[in-house]
Amino acid sequence: MIAEEISAAAAILRGVTRVVALTGAGVSAESGVPTFRGAGGLWEGQPVQEVATPQAFAADPVRVWRFYEERRRRLTRVAPNPAHRVLARWQDRFPSFTLVTQNVDRLHHAAGSREVLELHGSIWEIRCSSCGRSREDRTVPLPALPPVCASCGGTERPGVVWFGEYLPPGVMDAATEATQRCEVLVVVGTSAVVYPAAGLVEIAASGGAKVIEVNPDASAKAHLAEVNLRGPAGELLPNVDALLEGA
Ligand SMILES: [Zn+2]
Repeated sequence: MIAEEISAAAAILRGVTRVVALTGAGVSAESGVPTFRGAGGLWEGQPVQEVATPQAFAADPVRVWRFYEERRRRLTRVAPNPAHRVLARWQDRFPSFTLVTQNVDRLHHAAGSREVLELHGSIWEIRCSSCGRSREDRTVPLPALPPVCASCGGTERPGVVWFGEYLPPGVMDAATEATQRCEVLVVVGTSAVVYPAAGLVEIAASGGAKVIEVNPDASAKAHLAEVNLRGPAGELLPNVDALLEGA
């Protein structure tokens, strides 16, 4: 009975001080952002896992940029959903609230979240592959592909973490630290198979924090959750939030 699970989740969250939320592609999918895993994960007949790599970019930067241009263009047509908005409200509901996301679309920011730990970077950041200079650029389409660094003339790349690359160290450290200290970890819309993000669930559980999972299907870490909410986050999180509001 889902109503009982919603009450159980609200009971866990009521009165706690330190909360971490980890979000993944499922939250964005509810806004209409296509996931890598959906639709066979193909782009122009090639697995996305072979397009979003440093090797593919080195071989053909324009081709990789065309893939990201397509994703950037789609994002101009999507908006945050109620799940994003609840998580934005929770930054003020709990004395300490840390939002960690695997998403690169900045929909959490669009919903009003002020600080977001972006484990996989952002598609709206562009970084020089030579000097490392990073800048936000939301121009769609970009005037020329690949874009070129204004400081050094190097080839610029999307500011996202590709398959086979390390996560930004400062961001992962901050996420790990917050997770070690939290009382509750809310895992939303992620299959929890991609490490090290998936490891945050283990860190929370082994540190004694309670885990709430919100996902249409059981994730790889569902067994670590005290409460499993099965369904769309855009419907379930507002229900949990309404109970907290009424408390
Ligand atoms: Zn440069």
